[in-house]
Amino acid sequence: MEIREFRNEPLTDFAHPESRATMQAAIEGVASRLGQRRTMQIDGREVSRETTFVSQNPSHASQVVAVFPKGTTEDVARAVGAAASAFETWRYVSAEERSAYLFRAAEVMRQRRHELSAWMSYEVGKTWPEADADTAEAIDFLEFYGRENLRYAGEHPCTPVPGERATLVYRPLGVCAVIPPWNFPLAILVGMASAAIVTGNTVVLKPSSDAPTIGDEFVRIMREVGLPGGVLNFLTGSGSEIGDALVTHPLVRLVAFTGSKQVGLRINELAAHVGPGQRWIKRVIAEMGGKDAIIVDRDADLDAAAQGVTSSAFGYQGQKCSACSRVIVDGAVYDSFVEKLLGRVGGLRLGLATDPASDLGPVVSGRAQKTILESIARGRNEGRLLAGGEAVGDGSGYFIAPTVIADVAPSAHVAQEEIFGPVLAVLRARDFEDALTIANDTEYGLTGSVYTRDRAKIARASRDFFVGNLYFNRKCTGALVGGHPFGGFNMSGTNSKAGGRDYLLLFLQAQSIAEKLA
Ligand code: NAP
Repeated sequence: MEIREFRNEPLTDFAHPESRATMQAAIEGVASRLGQRRTMQIDGREVSRETTFVSQNPSHASQVVAVFPKGTTEDVARAVGAAASAFETWRYVSAEERSAYLFRAAEVMRQRRHELSAWMSYEVGKTWPEADADTAEAIDFLEFYGRENLRYAGEHPCTPVPGERATLVYRPLGVCAVIPPWNFPLAILVGMASAAIVTGNTVVLKPSSDAPTIGDEFVRIMREVGLPGGVLNFLTGSGSEIGDALVTHPLVRLVAFTGSKQVGLRINELAAHVGPGQRWIKRVIAEMGGKDAIIVDRDADLDAAAQGVTSSAFGYQGQKCSACSRVIVDGAVYDSFVEKLLGRVGGLRLGLATDPASDLGPVVSGRAQKTILESIARGRNEGRLLAGGEAVGDGSGYFIAPTVIADVAPSAHVAQEEIFGPVLAVLRARDFEDALTIANDTEYGLTGSVYTRDRAKIARASRDFFVGNLYFNRKCTGALVGGHPFGGFNMSGTNSKAGGRDYLLLFLQAQSIAEKLA
């Protein structure tokens, strides 16, 4: 099979009437399938439990998206056991065959693209373009890691040793626990799970309890393309109830986690403990939160900056780890920038995520709405509220108006804590140097951007803006697989660089083999 060079999946242009019609049909098609009972998948078999939980539509909280079993710690043991036995055969399957499963799954996703996006609109409140970008990224991960796996399976040069034939090969690790968040419920889940699978590991996938349905859709696709039972096990249930059992299970060799700092640090700590009979040091990939900043310099194109900041701060209601939650503006252009920013924020339309007219949908859950509103209440005392600041609607969905709080001090709660909602703090800097100092004054280091026309400032920020993903004169969200390998510094995580050439190495161990020549 000829494998073309990797290219990012194009995004859908919903201005096109045909694309709008197919997406609308997908939204209606998915509506007719809401509320169904779904199952876990352990060792290729569907598993139900009497105790269940529901996934809700955050635009319309009384609408049940799907009902799932609440997995138990016994289910954890079963799923890990199934993955451990499947590893004994899956590890010997050729790299070409393993990559082919990913390529086939990518093809199925292309065919069902709008349907998958529609599930995300219902389950986690993504607007059409946001859901579409999530599905495209998931396809990208499958295509990219499929190719990367073949590269890792190829030859790797060793310095010649006289009288010996030396080679280096990469081997899988074993059972991988994959624990994704709800905010990129397809892309991140598919990225982590497919990286583990394609490199020859087997997986116990525990989706977020806010987004199990889209995870289940992926698991079904992998079954449809013929992935052997036991290679990908799907375990639903509360992270706080079954997460520890999964992370500490002695047969788990690797944990791939993306989520909050709090849970990531806990996993890292628990995984360090060596359980009875455990023969390895567990590896942990933990990608965590951010408090990302955009610097607007006095030499910036202020219209472009206002547009980029609005999109970075409020795209998907600010619920991206890469979202701009601080804009740091040079005092010389502060007032004119803020005016332009408010003009754009005022034009954002808030509504049902499934409605193509909406720029913003709801936040993911009632719990999220409550904590975001609490942060806003605190933020009101830390600066000047210029936009939003409250819940919107009749309470049937979890909507929050896009919120801008200006004149915030760098040490304020809204300038330091990850709020993970549509809340932007505006900070005034004396000059560019001061802006850079403020930008770096956080425990995180995920994404950042600078708007400036000054090349010297671009060079200065390239050296000293301490974030894993740095951008100039563009938004700080929207990293592309292959083009912008993703992962941050400091408390933003282990810098795994998802979608980059180093990523699969995290799921592999290298073996050096040398043979003395006769
Ligand atoms: P979260 O609350 O940490 O949950 C993430 C996952 O961990 C969920 O599947 C959750 O399951 C599970 N979990 C919870 N407690 C656990 C435990 N004790 N042991 C094992 N697993 C446990 O994060 P979230 O709210 O889903 O996601 C938002 C966070 O993710 C933000 O902080 C955001 O910045 C971060 N994020 C980072 C990146 C990145 O690349 N750096 C990308 C996206 C998101 P339940 O749902 O069942 O609790």
